[in-house]
Amino acid sequence: MEFGGKRVLVVGAARSGMAAARLLQSRGAIVTVNDSQGEDHLSSQARELRELGISFAFGAHNPSLFINADLIVLSPGVPANLAELEAARRAGIKTISEVELSGLLLKGRLIGITGSNGKTTTTTLTGELMRSAGARVLVGGNIGAPLAALLDDSTDETWTVAELSSFQLETIDTMRVNVAVVTNISPDHLDRHASFDDYVAAKKKIFLNQKPDDWAVLNAKDPVVTRMFSSDARKVLFDSRGMGQADVYLKNDRIFTTLFKGGEAEVISRADIPLRGMHNVENIMASLGATICALGLDREALPTLRDAIKSFSGVEHRIEFVAEINGVRYYNDSKATNVDSTIKALEAFDGGIVLILGGKDKGSDYSVLTPLIRERVKKVILIGAASSKIESQLQGACSMSRADSMEHAVRLGKQSAQPGDTVLLAPACASFDMFENYEHRGRVFKEAVRSLVKEN
Ligand code: ADP
Repeated sequence: MEFGGKRVLVVGAARSGMAAARLLQSRGAIVTVNDSQGEDHLSSQARELRELGISFAFGAHNPSLFINADLIVLSPGVPANLAELEAARRAGIKTISEVELSGLLLKGRLIGITGSNGKTTTTTLTGELMRSAGARVLVGGNIGAPLAALLDDSTDETWTVAELSSFQLETIDTMRVNVAVVTNISPDHLDRHASFDDYVAAKKKIFLNQKPDDWAVLNAKDPVVTRMFSSDARKVLFDSRGMGQADVYLKNDRIFTTLFKGGEAEVISRADIPLRGMHNVENIMASLGATICALGLDREALPTLRDAIKSFSGVEHRIEFVAEINGVRYYNDSKATNVDSTIKALEAFDGGIVLILGGKDKGSDYSVLTPLIRERVKKVILIGAASSKIESQLQGACSMSRADSMEHAVRLGKQSAQPGDTVLLAPACASFDMFENYEHRGRVFKEAVRSLVKEN
């Protein structure tokens, strides 16, 4: 692809768009970045890019910008059916997503990881396992660096491990994923996808351009995942329920695999895994499957892989241990932005949970939490805009209180917990009603917990 002298319009001025703009400009394109929002929260980045010669148009989608471009590049946050885009397409102007553009330019091979939950954990761990096994690895996509920012570091020898969201996958056309991993699929983002079928169709695009020597690593336990599989690639299954048809599985609380030459091998015992919860066992199995297949490892790699799993303490905001105060342990799972991940968090603790729940509703059904709350939660503390909805859906499940801030919620948590209990932020909602994003919510929770430590 030649960009020299081409007028490229990048739509969406968040991280991926900015990275694409920088990349295209470095390859000789005349770049304009357009965003319907104002410049305020972007000014420092925009200033830097302006100095490189990139133009900006903030505050609206000006149709003439679209019509006069040679190429339009879309950030994952931008709706593909924008009227200005449709007009540009009708006028024969090529539009492409940031991910697709990156897929075209990326050198080396690609591991793509998608799913409703566990993407970041699996992507990060896969990066660690690949690195421990001696591969040259770049990690990014929907986490850390956008793909467009990794391109210049990619070579024919590198493996790029990319987290791919449904919004990114939706726009794929020619991108080939050499090792596709699907962790699980549950209803999420139904506020942005028209239906569950649409969401599944977007996820399914991860297999689109796979070839027979590629791999697809799938969760055997998830019927939506196994049903949607359609690919020329070789299928690898992982299963936390036991062996069945799987290639990586849990047996007697140990992870085994048959992917190495020479039959079954034990990888690691659950007791040696620092991460909590069966969902993390699944994330580990997915990462193992991807790494062993990508690199064609044999059992000599076992001690290295085992050590890498033992030293992986997880990713911030995912059932992250914060502190123990007077025998009460505080955990930050701010990334539990949907009901399914809250279920996983509750399952990771035996009982005695004080649960902080709530935020911005995504059209979820919270009543499915009732059985687990009855079994393991002694008190629910509600925060944010979804409080009333959650309260009415969980009616009678356990005692509930409302808090008007995170600090207040943590205080109420402390009052309700006894030694041996756990105060868990796993809100099952988006954060945007009270916070900038889930990271901000998690940090505010951790600060509130740390100020309790200081008081003690
Ligand atoms: P994603 O990137 O898909 O959002 P994360 O690894 O960031 O996934 O985890 C998001 C949330 O889901 C966290 O609350 C985490 O505890 C929970 N989670 C992680 N892995 C899984 C899994 N395999 N199944 C269900 N929930 C999970």
